[in-house]
Amino acid sequence: MVKEQPTEGFTPASSQQLPHLLDAIPHAFLFIDNDGVILHANASAAASIGTAKHELPGNTLWQCAPSLVTPTFYQAVVKAIHTRQPLDVVYRSPITQTWLCVQLSPTGEGLAIFFHETMEPTRHQETFGQNEQMYRDLLESFTDGVAILTPEGLILDINQRPLADAHLQRGEAIGKSYADLPAWSYDPAVQRQLRAAIEQASRGDTVQFEARIRPRTGMYLDVSMIITSHRDANQQVEYLICAGRDITKRKQEETELRTLVDAIPHFVWIMRPDGTAEYENQRWCDYTARTPEQLQGDGWLQCLHPDDRQLVREAWKTAIRTDTLYEVEYRMQNGNTGAYRWFLARGMPLRDAQGTIQRWIGTCTDIDEQKQAEQRLKDGEERLRQSQERANLLMTSSILGIFVAEDEQIVEANETYLHMTGYTREDLHAGKINWVSMTPPEYAIQTQQARQELAVTQRVTRYEKEYVCKDGNRLPVVVGGVTLRLDPLQVIGFVLDNSARKELEQRKDNFISMASHELKTPLAALKLQIQLVRARLARQGFHKMAADLARVEESERRLERLIGALLDVSKMQAGGLEYAQETVDLEALLQEVTAAMQRMNPGYTIVVRGTPLPMLEGDRDRLEQVFTNLISNAIKYSLDAPLVEIDASASEEAVTISVRDHGIGISRDQRAKIFERFYRVADPSQKAIPGLGMGLYIVAEIVKHHGGTITVDSEVGKGSTFRVTLPLKGATG
Ligand code: ADP
Repeated sequence: MVKEQPTEGFTPASSQQLPHLLDAIPHAFLFIDNDGVILHANASAAASIGTAKHELPGNTLWQCAPSLVTPTFYQAVVKAIHTRQPLDVVYRSPITQTWLCVQLSPTGEGLAIFFHETMEPTRHQETFGQNEQMYRDLLESFTDGVAILTPEGLILDINQRPLADAHLQRGEAIGKSYADLPAWSYDPAVQRQLRAAIEQASRGDTVQFEARIRPRTGMYLDVSMIITSHRDANQQVEYLICAGRDITKRKQEETELRTLVDAIPHFVWIMRPDGTAEYENQRWCDYTARTPEQLQGDGWLQCLHPDDRQLVREAWKTAIRTDTLYEVEYRMQNGNTGAYRWFLARGMPLRDAQGTIQRWIGTCTDIDEQKQAEQRLKDGEERLRQSQERANLLMTSSILGIFVAEDEQIVEANETYLHMTGYTREDLHAGKINWVSMTPPEYAIQTQQARQELAVTQRVTRYEKEYVCKDGNRLPVVVGGVTLRLDPLQVIGFVLDNSARKELEQRKDNFISMASHELKTPLAALKLQIQLVRARLARQGFHKMAADLARVEESERRLERLIGALLDVSKMQAGGLEYAQETVDLEALLQEVTAAMQRMNPGYTIVVRGTPLPMLEGDRDRLEQVFTNLISNAIKYSLDAPLVEIDASASEEAVTISVRDHGIGISRDQRAKIFERFYRVADPSQKAIPGLGMGLYIVAEIVKHHGGTITVDSEVGKGSTFRVTLPLKGATG
């Protein structure tokens, strides 16, 4: 596009006539210094440029002669100054569209420029013309804004796009500082950024940056700028090519995307291939209370729990090395509260067309609640494990037999239980242990009651029973239990081998039985002896001595009663107490017993009230024993209240006799126990009252034998009422 021809040298004369001479030249003439500042312009030049002649000197050629400026012309000027060689150049002014022929002649102080309009290039210049046209077409074909700038940033050429946006004519832009175009000058910061970029590019660098420009009032564009430099043969930067791409749409999309990304509850991030952070969404910044700048690079790692950082680094390294999905869980600190929450970070590599990783894009999801739930589950499992361990320890207890029963079936049992009952674990697993069939018939009712109790109150008070072991032998046990589940009934039972205690009891019973038998024979002999001696003394007139012996007889009778009671108890234990079956006149019996007791206790008043009692089938002596015992207790335990009231009533089915005193009374918790064998209330107030705890046991046994019941009502300090009910028919035998 440039046609250069060496021309003759030109030295401006410094005579007075020279300006006139120059004005006379039909061609336009300019004389510039080496910096492009116009030193002189003739009238023809001023006319061509369209300015008054005197306005030109002192201004740079590029600024005040836009109609002349093209990169071709600029290049030629720069080259002529640089090489000090004359040059010819033909080009078309982009403003006037006229062809210009310019002769450049270096002088000692600068450059003389002659130019005149010319015809279109001649034949041999066709190629040149075509090139020039191609250059223009090319320039205008860019949708990007393109400007050719001097290294100082003056516009040598510019395509239509930025001019159209700014509503500027080419002439208004050519020769001007690019940074002074309204698009850039509206904001000093933007302008500064451009100037710095031009300055850097003029040193030979390629500079890239993004900016928001305002081509005209009300119009803003986001542009991606790239400024490259063109060097001449001597590697000097000759001019700059400045291209700006409209990225407004992309920026808008980016903003929309960013808004979207900021709206989602996850943290979104972009990492460079080396694992340093490039972008974090607003949520992340908000959570960590840090700016995006603080999170950049390695900054985000500071927000992680110190214990997790190494793990995260390792995960990154692995993901980068193996080129796989990055996935790691870590705790991140909430910058506002200081608390840590668990996050799941996942990232995927983003590759270019060659498959090289460009970026990692990923998210962090808050999984704290999930983690907490997991932890709770783990804790729960741990607690379960511990409780299982404890349960196992309990199960392996060598003292207690423990079993789990589902309905009648024993489904789990410890070694102690198996050992006690003689069954094996194989029997257990084969379902061969059934607690109902292990229960002897005489304990069936009691066992069913226990089962009821378990269903109703979820527990059973321990009770004594016997097991029929695998070998058929009986084993006395104490059983207790709690309900695990109701439907079907699942029970955990505790069994204590009671055989040692039972054996001891048996020995004691044997002893009592033996001792009472042994005592009974000499006592009978003694009694007989005393009666004989007393009769003899009475006959011989020793009445005083006979009376003394009668008192001895009384003691002997007490001893006899005691031994009789002991014998009764041991017989009852052995199930061998014999009962007579006779018709008993209850009314007469009661009167007789009352009268005898009244006689023996003259200090007490014994009152009998109520209806006359009917006849009853039973054992007269034993029933007498019942009333004697109750009345003597009523007297014994009411020293300060000498009144005993007996009430008798009868219906068609049964008779009820109640014995009431106003003595010391019995506390609620003692009431059930007083009917047990050898049980005495251990109260200091009662210490001085003699007794062996056998009376009520015998009474209850006799009443039970007659098919009756005995109950007690009492209030401590106010007295007690024992109530015996006996059926008139159907007594159990
Ligand atoms: P004991 O020989 O000790 O009287 P019992 O079997 O007759 O034996 O009575 C058992 C216990 O019941 C007594 O030790 C006493 O504490 C209590 N008891 C029996 N009857 C009465 C009563 N009428 N008033 C207060 N306590 C009584």
